[in-house]
Amino acid sequence: MARVEVQNVSLTFGVHKAVDDVSIAFEDGGFYALLGPSGSGKTTLLRMIAGFEFPDTGSIRIDGEAVENVPVNKRRIGMVFQNYALFPNMSVADNVAFGLEVRGEKGETLRREVADALDLVQLGALAKRRPHQLSGGQRQRVALARAIVTKPRVLLLDEPLSALDKALRTDMQVELKRIQREVGVTTIFVTHDQEEALSISDRIGILKDGRIVQEGAPEEIYDRPASEFAATFLGEANILSGTAENGRLRLDNGLAIDLPPEGGTVAGDFRCAIRPERVHLSALPDAATAGGQLQGVVKRRSFSGSLSTYVVDCGGKEIKSVVQRGGGTAIEIGRPVELRWNRDDLVMLPAA
Ligand code: ATP
Repeated sequence: MARVEVQNVSLTFGVHKAVDDVSIAFEDGGFYALLGPSGSGKTTLLRMIAGFEFPDTGSIRIDGEAVENVPVNKRRIGMVFQNYALFPNMSVADNVAFGLEVRGEKGETLRREVADALDLVQLGALAKRRPHQLSGGQRQRVALARAIVTKPRVLLLDEPLSALDKALRTDMQVELKRIQREVGVTTIFVTHDQEEALSISDRIGILKDGRIVQEGAPEEIYDRPASEFAATFLGEANILSGTAENGRLRLDNGLAIDLPPEGGTVAGDFRCAIRPERVHLSALPDAATAGGQLQGVVKRRSFSGSLSTYVVDCGGKEIKSVVQRGGGTAIEIGRPVELRWNRDDLVMLPAA
């Protein structure tokens, strides 16, 4: 186990800054997700921690030791790639044994360590198979066993579940979390799947254009996104923009809402975010009796199992509301509704 500290790290390919002045610390034993859209620099950052790329500037420390100039094989890091990169002509056990053999281990110790790693990923029974005789999920486990068997200080995972179908992927997320807890290794996991990042990690770093735009616990980022990008990339959000004055926000369409208490002093162009599940809807007999923060008309609705999503047209501004489906009847399209939320659930965002 180890602490990884990335300080002011940049790397440019040609004229393109793939990683731009990134500073982030990965604490001992933590499970971190690096989340961001395609091209945001996640893999490049991971490859620098691994030692496959070297930063132009900045420092990377593992347990206090500067490693920018230490080659891959000396960093004591385990890595799992998207395509698993297993040796096709070797058995499962030989694939897992490879890293230990390179280090000179053999005999009973080697055999026992390989068996332990395969037990950990629940593949003991398939030790003699070749990779082509395994399912995608099983191959994924072999790759994981191979990375863990050398007892790395840090485990780096680059979209390891992206080749699996949805059901298997969800199973493997649970499995990966269990294995990480059991081994206790500091883990950095690259993904562009927000649900995966939310469900699997202790902390998330969000990347955009080579920069970390927010870092924190999943709930913290979800409840208090620091930017419009974080609010809309991690989960869905209604963005309300307009002009603030006297604790109210006059939206671009002329309607006005109350700002949260801390918004009392802001003035000028301003924006807030609110999560769709924090927007409560009630159907109105007619538009004249409306209360709530905003009023509108149901424009679209969709069902996904236990949840209903409503899109409400509030004077030309669409606001999304997600509600738990209960015993009551659904609100029909075209029906006037009022929208209510708790003022504290509005997140004030910095100017774009
Ligand atoms: P994805 O989710 O698509 O894998 P990512 O967030 O991991 O994306 P990176 O692979 O780190 O992004 O790439 C960041 C940027 O750097 C991209 O614009 C990419 O085209 C560029 N890039 C990455 N590797 C190289 C390279 N070896 N040479 C030139 N440009 C590169």
